[in-house]
Amino acid sequence: MAKDNLTAILYGINDIRLEQTPIEEPNDDEVLMQMGCVGICGSDVHYLVNGRIGDFVVRKPMIMGHESSGVVVKLGKNVKHLKIGDRVAIEPGVSCRQCKFCKEGRYNLCKDVIFCATPPVHGNMRRFYKHAADFCFKLPDHVSLAEGAILEPLSVGVHACKRANIGIGSKVLILGAGPIGLVSLLVAKAMGASRIVITDIMQNRLNLAKKLGANDTLLIEKGVSEEETVRKIHELFGEEPDKTIDACGAQSSIRLAILATRSGGIAVLVGMGAPEVQVPLINALIREVDIRGVFRYANDYADALDLVASRKIDVKPLITHNFKLEEVVEAFNVSKSGQGDVIKVMIHCN
Ligand SMILES: [Zn+2]
Ligand SMILES: [Zn+2]
Repeated sequence: MAKDNLTAILYGINDIRLEQTPIEEPNDDEVLMQMGCVGICGSDVHYLVNGRIGDFVVRKPMIMGHESSGVVVKLGKNVKHLKIGDRVAIEPGVSCRQCKFCKEGRYNLCKDVIFCATPPVHGNMRRFYKHAADFCFKLPDHVSLAEGAILEPLSVGVHACKRANIGIGSKVLILGAGPIGLVSLLVAKAMGASRIVITDIMQNRLNLAKKLGANDTLLIEKGVSEEETVRKIHELFGEEPDKTIDACGAQSSIRLAILATRSGGIAVLVGMGAPEVQVPLINALIREVDIRGVFRYANDYADALDLVASRKIDVKPLITHNFKLEEVVEAFNVSKSGQGDVIKVMIHCN
């Protein structure tokens, strides 16, 4: 039985093609899904434009996509918690479940994780895709497949806010108002932060952040000194923020994260840029500012889903553009244009 399994494949730099691939059979612990939505992530664009992120190099054609949702169409024989017709969000990184990181629950640190669309692992921007059933989360009827796909970046925000110990009364500085900065903003608010200031180099992103609940915004402009920017941030808070989330990754931004955080506070680094940066580490040391890394997420998908399903968070304003799978090249062109009004580009696979 020949079935359409149109698939978006990255062949090399700026070379993405739509081709048919075989529909895979789910093994005993997997489910086959008719794919719903797949969001385009900054990392996808990075692979498209540069062919690599750090040590991860696209050496062979790779199927794109990792922010996704689908509808279960076939069950492996061991799968008990899902049934055919269930709409699910797909957590894209399947860990080994055996190593000490997995057993401790920090499975994002597992060395054997298989993560969609991280070379050489294929992603799920296709009509049909199979995945480990225990990494699929059933969506309630009132949560859309597009919202299901956004649980992926939202989980990064949940993980970042947990790592920052955000709670009632937190004063949170967020550096960068792209998708990760904005989801961090939504989560920080839901977790009880009392004041949130967000920065970016694009005013239209800050305008959206304001609509999403930021108390204040700061446009980062060229030629303004670091000291002056820190002073402005503190002025906007009326004090010093006790938590900072860097969702940018540039050296200037990581430096700000350390310098602007109040003594004894926590600076969480989510954005990833150059492998080595120069930062005022002694400043962090003498003021006991904790610097914490964030890598993806672990045990955060269910919480992200809860936040959306309970309507504590509305992620819909983040979806700014929608395309069919057939329009994938155009969709990536919009995403990589980097225009401020582009936040999340969503591909509808069926
Ligand atoms: Zn992503
Ligand atoms: Zn493991």
